[in-house]
Amino acid sequence: MPVIIEKDVLIIGGGIAGLWILNRLAGQSFDVLLLDKQPLGSGQSIASQGMIHGGIKYALAGSLNAASQAIADMPDHWSACLKGQGDVDLQGTRLLSEQYFMWPRNSLRSRFNAFLGSKALRGKVSSVDKDDYPAFFRNRIPGPLYQLKDIVLDVPSLLSCLSDKYRAQIKQINWQDCILETTADGEIKQLRLKHQGEDYIIRARRYLITSGDGAKALLENIFPTPKLPETLQIQHRPLHMTIVKHTIRDPLYVHCVADQLTATPEVTITTHPCSDGRTAWYLGGELAESGTQRSAAEQNQAAEKKLRELFPWLDLGQAEWHSFFINRAEAKTAGGKRPESASIHQHKNLLLCWPSKLTLAPNLGQQLVDHLQSEKIIPGTNKSTSLEFLPFPGIALPPWEAAT
Ligand SMILES: Cc1cc2nc3c(=O)[nH]c(=O)nc-3n(C[C@H](O)[C@H](O)[C@H](O)COP(=O)(O)OP(=O)(O)OC[C@H]3O[C@@H](n4cnc5c(N)ncnc54)[C@H](O)[C@@H]3O)c2cc1C
Repeated sequence: MPVIIEKDVLIIGGGIAGLWILNRLAGQSFDVLLLDKQPLGSGQSIASQGMIHGGIKYALAGSLNAASQAIADMPDHWSACLKGQGDVDLQGTRLLSEQYFMWPRNSLRSRFNAFLGSKALRGKVSSVDKDDYPAFFRNRIPGPLYQLKDIVLDVPSLLSCLSDKYRAQIKQINWQDCILETTADGEIKQLRLKHQGEDYIIRARRYLITSGDGAKALLENIFPTPKLPETLQIQHRPLHMTIVKHTIRDPLYVHCVADQLTATPEVTITTHPCSDGRTAWYLGGELAESGTQRSAAEQNQAAEKKLRELFPWLDLGQAEWHSFFINRAEAKTAGGKRPESASIHQHKNLLLCWPSKLTLAPNLGQQLVDHLQSEKIIPGTNKSTSLEFLPFPGIALPPWEAAT
């Protein structure tokens, strides 16, 4: 006889989306189990730059659009959580930077002033006084330099913080030992798991797929092609990220804005301390988007050229360059555009969840709580067996540690 385990919600995937939702639901006494096949955050979350932004970078084209409106409150929301005063307790998460800078090239000065003076941006961006420039820029650039209300988090510590409290509810699975069983019309019946000759059946009222780039393979198993419902379609937007390891101490958190106002800064830089005592600059933005057309060697060369052009005073002689390709996996949009907010896509008892940005995890968490409420799914009374024999998956290694 199989052991039957009843859960309110089963979450598959422990990146920022799955972990945030776990914290929201477990905090409301839902009986939740989260399963991951790899260390938590493997994929996009651990590879993210950790920027919690208010959408200003999306407003570079000249006006605030729906995308920037949806995330405008997020830096304040996360700051409250970091102090233990939000919907999820993030005390213990390491704050890498309390501010983020935007550095436009000189030729943009007049257009930038008009843009930043617009009513929509008032209070969200401020011009930095030369005496208050961060050490990296002091007496180096003519300015202007702007400060955004954005913050930067150390993602490994964020993932630890989100998983520590609910460790017993987070398990690593091997899909060779288990299968999601479905009905003919695509409803999930149960997850069947085999361990040491014993059969376990896990049933939940809702099955959440928060598997990032892994969602596609998972869904194709549930709905063999061409049966994947339209609502569950996925898109990828690829990036080629660069890591520069060096011993320059002054941290750098900046969007370098190109000579033309476009939706994407030419380079977006974050700084991450490495366990070997060195510092890693992590480079995203347009460099990463256009880099998908370049080989690793070409991307490292392009990154070096860009940094030398931007910061000619730097000695990068001893720097070590690494790059890697990664997909942003999201809900499919018309024309493959960036999704404007977090979203949930339902097919019977399956909910496919996309934060679309690390920043928007709270938004996704709230949508999910509201969704369950609208379906009248409330915490059950069953407090069932935990699967003690399954291990905790651990936390993924960030790319600046993995790069050797
Ligand atoms: C390079 C890069 C930089 C970024 N920087 C930022 C930023 O600075 N700020 C920002 O707001 N957003 C940023 N983003 C976007 C952000 O990282 C993502 O939107 C977010 O992390 C997605 O989280 P997720 O939980 O949906 O997916 P993921 O983080 O990819 O997590 C998916 C999880 O599911 C697990 N999984 C996969 N398949 C299976 C399976 N079959 N069974 C069980 N488990 C499975 C994986 O192991 C993983 O743990 C960045 C994205 C990239 C790629």
